[in-house]
Amino acid sequence: MKIIDNIACLKEEIKKLQGSTGLIPTMGALHKGHLSLIKQSIKDNDNSIVSIFVNPIQFGINEDLDKYPRQLKKDCELCEKAGVSIVFAPKVQEIYKSDKNDLTLICPPITVLDKLCAKTRIGHFDGVCSIVAKLFNLTKANRAYFGQKDAQQLFIIKKMVEDLNFDIEIIPCPIVREEDGLALSSRNQYLSKDDRTLALNIQKALKTASGLAKQGINDKKTILDACLIILKDLEVDYVEFVDKNTFDITEDINKNTLLLIAAKTPQSKTRLIDNCLLYQ
Ligand code: AMP
Repeated sequence: MKIIDNIACLKEEIKKLQGSTGLIPTMGALHKGHLSLIKQSIKDNDNSIVSIFVNPIQFGINEDLDKYPRQLKKDCELCEKAGVSIVFAPKVQEIYKSDKNDLTLICPPITVLDKLCAKTRIGHFDGVCSIVAKLFNLTKANRAYFGQKDAQQLFIIKKMVEDLNFDIEIIPCPIVREEDGLALSSRNQYLSKDDRTLALNIQKALKTASGLAKQGINDKKTILDACLIILKDLEVDYVEFVDKNTFDITEDINKNTLLLIAAKTPQSKTRLIDNCLLYQ
């Protein structure tokens, strides 16, 4: 496995690759969620490239850029064990020659920026799209792997690929959870013991909502209220229902309804997100 930190070397290595290439963009602090994407790529492709880059332009001013966990050595060991061909882990200066105000950015449409994470994380998805587009161009990958945990991100990336005619296939991968149901996230490292116990209520709310829907309750308010009671000890950012195909907020509860939750834990103020298809 090659570990590369600069664009010139990456381009040289990409030229040498034969067959298909899968890209797994990450911010590192790899866990079993990331590894499931990596495994899928290794199954599907001749070469798999993992990028590890804590992308400063997708963090807001009061967010956790400085304290975001960084563990490159351990991440590289995990990638090597998994059978990755290249880890691309550049420094910020290698990726951005100037600051955000002087960069060409990709901005998703207002129709997806007026809701969910985009509403509180202003500029976040511009940052995400811009780095992902750069990685697509640099790696020339045939496929790229994204987790369904970041459902709005996945939708926006798919739309960017379609709207801008990127020649790459986006492969969605299911959410990987701890045994007790907590969705794996690099940010789980911030959780205190009490926070972690409360964080389980997010999955509990999703399960309860799904149970109600499956019992035939299709009134959004009833399901929403049930979720909010379960989430009462967390700082809820949103509990929202969207159509999985359009990401439009929906009043209907049907087989396409995706329920998404974002909430902060009370002690460490860790922002967690999770989602499920109500009828899954
Ligand atoms: P991140 O390092 O948080 O930017 O995540 C990199 C990729 O891993 C994104 O496509 C995420 O959606 C995906 N991912 C993160 N956590 C999980 C999880 N628990 N299950 C599946 N995919 C995940």
